[in-house]
Amino acid sequence: MKIALVGNQNSGKTTLFNLLTGMNAKIGNWPGVTIEKKTGIIRGTNYEITDLPGIYSLSPYSIEEDVSRKFIFEEKPDIIINIVDSTSLERSLYLTTQLLELDCKVIIALNMMDILEKKGVKLDINQLEYTLQTKVIRISALKGSGIDDLISELHKEQSVNTQYIYDAKLENFISRIQYYLPDNMQNKRFIAVKLLENDNRFEDINTYKIKKVIEEAIRNYDTDLEEVIATERYEFIKQAKEKVMESKPILETFSDKLDKIFLNKILGVPIFVIVMSFIYYLSVGVVGNYTVNWMSSIVENVSEKIEIFLSSLGIFNWLISLMVDGIIAGVGTVIGFIPQLIILFLCISILETTGYMSRIALLLDKIFRKIGLSGKSLIPFIIGSGCSVPGIMGTRILENKSEKDITSILVPFIPCSAKLPIIAIFSNYFFGKNAGIVSVSIYFLAIAIIIISAIIMKKITSYSSDTTYIYELPEYKIPSVKHISKDVCEKVIEFIKRAGSIILICSIIIWFLVSFSFNLEYGVNIEESILASMGKTISWIFYPMLGVKSWGATVSAIQGLVAKEQVISSMSVIAGLASGTDNEAQIFASNGIFGFFTASSAYAFMIFNLFSAPCFSAIGAMKKELVDTKKLLKAVSFQIGIAWILATLAYQIGIRIEKGFNFSNILIILSIIFLVIFILLGTKNKKECKRCPYYNSCGKPIC
Ligand code: GDP
Ligand code: MG
Repeated sequence: MKIALVGNQNSGKTTLFNLLTGMNAKIGNWPGVTIEKKTGIIRGTNYEITDLPGIYSLSPYSIEEDVSRKFIFEEKPDIIINIVDSTSLERSLYLTTQLLELDCKVIIALNMMDILEKKGVKLDINQLEYTLQTKVIRISALKGSGIDDLISELHKEQSVNTQYIYDAKLENFISRIQYYLPDNMQNKRFIAVKLLENDNRFEDINTYKIKKVIEEAIRNYDTDLEEVIATERYEFIKQAKEKVMESKPILETFSDKLDKIFLNKILGVPIFVIVMSFIYYLSVGVVGNYTVNWMSSIVENVSEKIEIFLSSLGIFNWLISLMVDGIIAGVGTVIGFIPQLIILFLCISILETTGYMSRIALLLDKIFRKIGLSGKSLIPFIIGSGCSVPGIMGTRILENKSEKDITSILVPFIPCSAKLPIIAIFSNYFFGKNAGIVSVSIYFLAIAIIIISAIIMKKITSYSSDTTYIYELPEYKIPSVKHISKDVCEKVIEFIKRAGSIILICSIIIWFLVSFSFNLEYGVNIEESILASMGKTISWIFYPMLGVKSWGATVSAIQGLVAKEQVISSMSVIAGLASGTDNEAQIFASNGIFGFFTASSAYAFMIFNLFSAPCFSAIGAMKKELVDTKKLLKAVSFQIGIAWILATLAYQIGIRIEKGFNFSNILIILSIIFLVIFILLGTKNKKECKRCPYYNSCGKPIC
């Protein structure tokens, strides 16, 4: 038996799915986390259950919504479990009214009953069953209550009763269309309604007779039929809700009280800035720095011991160097950042599970709307702060193709966890006490650049966002220790896996290229190595942002394409071989190869690595979402171009500040930037038509 889990976003589908199957699909306290379907077997049965992305109606607008609709129509599940968030019945039942039009057994799982009970709201379940003409089971996916009732309901036979929810006139048109549909056709009532709604996915079954009925229906109503149907659905839901609700919530919930602070017009944004600063301060600044010193002394110790041990075995010198200067220096450096990453992942996981992340999304939503992206496009950015790959894939929740493209190009600008080692090492070494502030500044610079780029790209592509985002704030929840520790562990393991695979291989390659010359002579002067010769031919590219032609920095930055952690890893191998040390704090030792870095070039180098093309995995994900190779090439060139310009600007401004202010130069550069922004903002916008936000169902343009 095939079962589909269908419901709105954030209604608890994945939580229920995990509970029923014992699997571990990702749960997030915000909409849009599940973007692909996932199938499992319900424990103790042989029923196959599929967790689908959240949908608000069966008229899909985005790819993820299409995944759900296709599944329902093409895979033909035997039973649909419709998860309904009982705390927002009205919105959830909209989808239910559509599901009930299908020729499929629908069981309603009324979820989040625990919250409803806490709020003191009672629902008359019998009445709800009668109104909807289907079985309703109350559950709490989180607390695990009502699950046995739900499973036993799956075994039962149930006839599919039609519920007539529209007024007589509309029902008449529907039944007439149904009559003209082929006899053997499934889901006739549903298709009849869709034909009236002018859903273009059913155009091919629109015969002459059906067209006549639709034309008659259109003449009968002044407004668009899709709107008429949506309005009648809501009328039905409103009445159903009135009959079912036995008492109304009286108390202001704790969540409401907290939102008064966190979403406060004046306090909201400053609180967000403080929270993010605090997180960076912890992970990159004070605590982070302490842990890095501690970890690097451990790595150094281990490295020394291994070196002594290997020497005592009397093996080849180059083999010892490969182990110590290549593998341990490269992999060890990256591993040294694990404590910092744990702090970062822990903080982000807490933000996610408590529900505060959704508030951040809402706060930034206003700004995003102003620049032409919808609030929904924030989700990929938030996911991207962990890793760009799922972030880019997350753009599937966007309906508008241009908006989707722009978002997937800009997601890699958000500092992902692999960029943290670069930010941490540079800001700690060059900015000491101010490391926290410097790293936070980079984070906010990323947001600013995303906003400016979005404005520019929007001007170029001249599209208007019509993605409607239904914003339902989840309740604040106390995070579960189990959930958070699992989340953090998974991410850390992923990081270690990368260190043990990609970084390991690259470190060996780098060691080889630095230790050998083109004549394959071992132990040559580092300046004559293969890598140095290769780097020197292109090091001029980085000259404007570093102030020197450094082959070491050049090759390290280019390796960011393989993985961003590799930048630091490579610097560590090169510095180690050049100066005979493998402590990453010594990377910048004055006699070393990277001794030329100053605060300005360090900041510029961080910026370049943050904005330039992401790693190959993320470029691969971009290719998948952008589809067109030309577009991908343009996008990557754009990212590299922006990175180069920003890094050069940062260095050029910084170096002037270092030398003592030269106001005129800075003013000239700043005025040019402002002028460009001003001109772009000032150009008149085309009249924008938005889609009617009527619960994502109407979709008619309103200009
Ligand atoms: P999905 O988007 O429908 O897959 O929803 P998720 O399964 O990701 O859950 C969204 C959020 O709701 C998570 O924070 C869950 O912990 C929470 N949640 C799910 N079911 C319940 C429930 O029955 N009660 C409460 N209080 N929270 C729940
Ligand atoms: Mg989900």
